[in-house]
Formats: sequence, structure tokens, C-alpha cells
Amino acid sequence: MDTRSGDHWVAWANIHARNSNRIEALEGSFRRNVETFVAVLESAGARVDVSATRRSPKRAYLFHWSWKIANGKCRPADADAAPMAGVGIRWDHGNDLQSRSGALEMTRGFGLAMPPRSIYPPALTSNHIAGRAIDMDIRWKGTLRLPRSDGGMVSVAWTPAVNANLPLHGVGASYGVRKLRSDAPHWSFNGR
Ligand SMILES: [Zn+2]
Repeated sequence: MDTRSGDHWVAWANIHARNSNRIEALEGSFRRNVETFVAVLESAGARVDVSATRRSPKRAYLFHWSWKIANGKCRPADADAAPMAGVGIRWDHGNDLQSRSGALEMTRGFGLAMPPRSIYPPALTSNHIAGRAIDMDIRWKGTLRLPRSDGGMVSVAWTPAVNANLPLHGVGASYGVRKLRSDAPHWSFNGR
């Protein structure tokens, strides 16, 4: 395959560098904490839809550098100077216009948010990459009665504003699943 950047790398990543939305893909201790919290929610009557768990570091690498090159935030040679094992991509086509066009095909293929929607490149490291974060949508009707890990019961009223639902965050934290309050679906081992 052509090692130069371009949309064939999107197809490659969709086979070799996939993200997971399975709880079983999470890191051991966080996985057990999530399993317990989700079981508590579901047995109280909530519906839990998981959209993302472990993110592929190879995919994150392709997101990061394609975004930076496509937006003129680095030279293609800078990306080639920071290779990732198992990804034999060549970012520098020997011509800036072509290098940028190859990277742009990838940002489009991956559906990355570009300026002004997102002014930062996708991160190279995150709790998702370490298997210690989960994105999930939790829904119910009315008020749930949820046990904390110490056995105390908590009433949690439904609100669509999950980032403001402090009683729910408290129950999650008691099981080691902590809310990031700026990102609606995101929970992690440390709240980041
Ligand atoms: Zn997340």
C-alpha cells in the first residue's frame, strides 16, 4: 500500500486501529468499577447506552497529525519525526500542497471537527486510550433510588443536564467512576 498520507489510511484504520464501545475492553480495575456502576443503574431501572470505551492509540496518532498538518499547525516533517510503532505512514510527500491535501483527506474521512468548531488537535493521550474512561448515555423516568458502594441509598431525579446531576455523580464516584462535568457522556477513573 502507498505509505503516503491520504484517505486509504482511513480505510486502514477502520480495520487495524478501531476504537471500542465494549466495557470488556476497559482496563481491569476500572472495568470492574464500571460493571458495578452500570449494574446498579440498570437494576434500578435506568437505561445505559455506551458509545465509547477504549480508544486506539494508533487511531489517535492518525487523528492528531492529520489534523495538525491539514490545518497548517506543523510541518509534515515534524509528524514523520514522531512515528508510531505499527503505523508506517509517511506524512511528508516532498511537497507541502500534496502533504496537506493527503492529511485533509484523512481529517474528512475520520470526520474530525475542524476550526472554528474545534480549535485544538485531537489528543495523543487520554483516559480513553488508557482504557480508563467511558462515554455513556444514562436515561430513566422520574426518580431512581440508587445504592452507593457503602450501602447508603440516594434519590436521583431525572434531568437531561447530566453534567449538573450531582447526586448521580456522587453515586458513580462511590464506585470509582467519576464524571467530567464539561463533557456530557464522559466518565473516568479520575474525572478527567
Ligand atoms: Zn469520553
